[in-house]
Amino acid sequence: MNAVLPSLHREPFVGGRFVPAMGGGVEALVDPWTGRPLTEVALAGPVEVEAAIRMARHAFDAGDWPHLPPVDRGAVLHRIAAGITARQDKFAQIEAVNAGKPISGALREVEGAIRVFTYYAGAMDKVFGDTIPLGRDLLDFTLREPLGVVAQIVPWNFPLLGASWKLAPALAAGCAAVLKPAPLTPLTALLLAEVCREAGVPDGFLSVLPGGADVGRRLAEDPRIDGISFTGSTAVGSEVMRLASASIKRVALELGGKNAALVFADADMEKAAASAVASGFGNAGQSCSARSRLLVERGALEPFARAFAAAAAKLKTGKALDPATNLGPLISASHRDAVDRTVAQAREAGADLVSGGVMPEGDGFFYPPTILSGVGPDNPAFSREIFGPVCSLTPFDSEAEAIALANDSDYGLNGSVWCRDIGRALRVARAMRTGMVAVNGLPSASKTSVFAPFGGYKRSGIGRELGLQALDFYCEIKNVVVDLT
Ligand code: NAD
Repeated sequence: MNAVLPSLHREPFVGGRFVPAMGGGVEALVDPWTGRPLTEVALAGPVEVEAAIRMARHAFDAGDWPHLPPVDRGAVLHRIAAGITARQDKFAQIEAVNAGKPISGALREVEGAIRVFTYYAGAMDKVFGDTIPLGRDLLDFTLREPLGVVAQIVPWNFPLLGASWKLAPALAAGCAAVLKPAPLTPLTALLLAEVCREAGVPDGFLSVLPGGADVGRRLAEDPRIDGISFTGSTAVGSEVMRLASASIKRVALELGGKNAALVFADADMEKAAASAVASGFGNAGQSCSARSRLLVERGALEPFARAFAAAAAKLKTGKALDPATNLGPLISASHRDAVDRTVAQAREAGADLVSGGVMPEGDGFFYPPTILSGVGPDNPAFSREIFGPVCSLTPFDSEAEAIALANDSDYGLNGSVWCRDIGRALRVARAMRTGMVAVNGLPSASKTSVFAPFGGYKRSGIGRELGLQALDFYCEIKNVVVDLT
């Protein structure tokens, strides 16, 4: 790893080249596995933000990229996928130590990034406009045109994947992108910029600006930017929307979640428990998709809790680069403290510990997989997005109560239902106010993500990423009507 870090760019990528940053300050990155310093990154300041926006605007307004046949932009995206593939281990190792991910998970995320560039490489030439029947004398048709200059803001929990989900459809559609990674995890986004340049993304069409809230606010406000796609917390999403409103920017928001899994008594308990562990404790629970509320039919509560705790006990914490490790640390000491405080508050409000809940001694920002029982709707563990390895158990007595509990949330990202009665499963799936529902499990990410739309109802966001639906954000629709007389 020490050999990889010095070879990395640790300064902003502005319109096609890495530049020594002026005035944005420096972020000292910490390895969450050890708590020790990792490296330093120069953050973008007002000068780099201004240059990136100016270059993107000029590139989009004067450049060829938006007007190329989509298949030609697709060829560049294929080369980006190949460039990531060629550096798969490097990307995964950096992500592992910068974002606190076990190497096995980091490698899966790199594969996900490759898949997303490959998908959009072949997507844009299959998205057509419409012809609208208006009679013999008129011809009416629609054109899909690139939206323009887009800003993209991503959080620290899936740094490369989050950047790829946004960048691939934007570039495929012909937009110019200014991407802001989270200040704690900018390294893989900067390496991705290098790959994009080598693959042939023309100058001006991509900037990557490591930076914090000040950079994000400038991007949200700037009238030269046509759209902003934000992933992060609901509170910041709301601020981004407000800042973007002055210039009537198009806004896409992928925000928080407090997702429920509904386990009925006839479910396959082992499978439901294994999925609860993968979903609730994967990425140490730092996932908007984590299904941290386990709603269980009362008669099945005991056997499910036993199976869940037994499956969680098999998680293995160890070294970042050990392929057998499958539970990493939290991103920072302060975040771990916040998780621990919420667990304490949940217990004060009446929750019991089934497992975990005690902060370990030693280096690194580890927190054990924690299961709380007796969690009612008034408990903070039921309503608050904890963003750590903490799941709660809540019993229900009827299908109607299960649905009411599941929907008792400001969020609406995803949910799952576990039962063998297919009629009930589909009734519940339809009744859940979430953007995504899994019935009896979630197949491996390789079968679902990329191809299907991802996003939430209610305060989980606006718009969809992935699938062909993501292209709706990055395209304008123009209607052309021709008088044939
Ligand atoms: P955050 O909202 O604090 O930060 C997200 C990004 O916004 C970072 O890049 C940050 O630097 C930037 N930012 C912070 N303040 C800003 C401001 N005022 N204006 C513009 N940009 C600003 O979120 P976080 O703590 O980094 O990430 C965790 C959150 O992200 C959780 O709520 C999680 O659910 C959410 N998330 C959602 C999805 C999804 O797809 N729905 C995916 C991953 C994470």
